[in-house]
Amino acid sequence: MIYPIRLYGDPVLRKRAQPVQEFGGLKRLAQDMLETMFEARGVGLAAPQIGLSQRFFVAVEYADEPEGEERPLRDLVRRVFVVANPVILHREGEVEGLEGCLSLPGLYSEEVPRAERIRVAYQDEEGQGRTLELEGYMARVFQHEIDHLDGVLFFERLPKPKREAFLEENRMELARLQKEARALLKELSQG
Ligand SMILES: [Zn+2]
Repeated sequence: MIYPIRLYGDPVLRKRAQPVQEFGGLKRLAQDMLETMFEARGVGLAAPQIGLSQRFFVAVEYADEPEGEERPLRDLVRRVFVVANPVILHREGEVEGLEGCLSLPGLYSEEVPRAERIRVAYQDEEGQGRTLELEGYMARVFQHEIDHLDGVLFFERLPKPKREAFLEENRMELARLQKEARALLKELSQG
């Protein structure tokens, strides 16, 4: 099943999500979220982005796309991460890099600061405890997705002057997204 992705302006994106306690339906949910993410051509998708305020996300490490061909993303999957109740145990280094978000389609910043390396504890789709060390791009993806579980969006990680510039430069687009988010919520509430 493909879920509608909640957009900037939707209050669910601003809430601190609740811990996952029930692991029964998680495999199915992970499959549906991955399908939703492939369709939207994303690298990660957090539960609040489909309206579910739970501490859960999926992320994928992709192989590079062969030059000049557009392949379906699912053919390029190198590794799938299904992550419940993540906690960052350790952070190291700081790097700026490019980020976008499926809830803010078309908007990017190249200067989002993140830790370069992290160690994360989490539970997998069966509730099994795991830890993982990540660096570079996947470390960035995890930090972005974990922020979603705390109601934080990527541009809020920018230092204040850059954050204000981002909001100013994208003022029209953000207003348009907020309007679209409200329309989607209305549609969903009418079933
Ligand atoms: Zn995002």
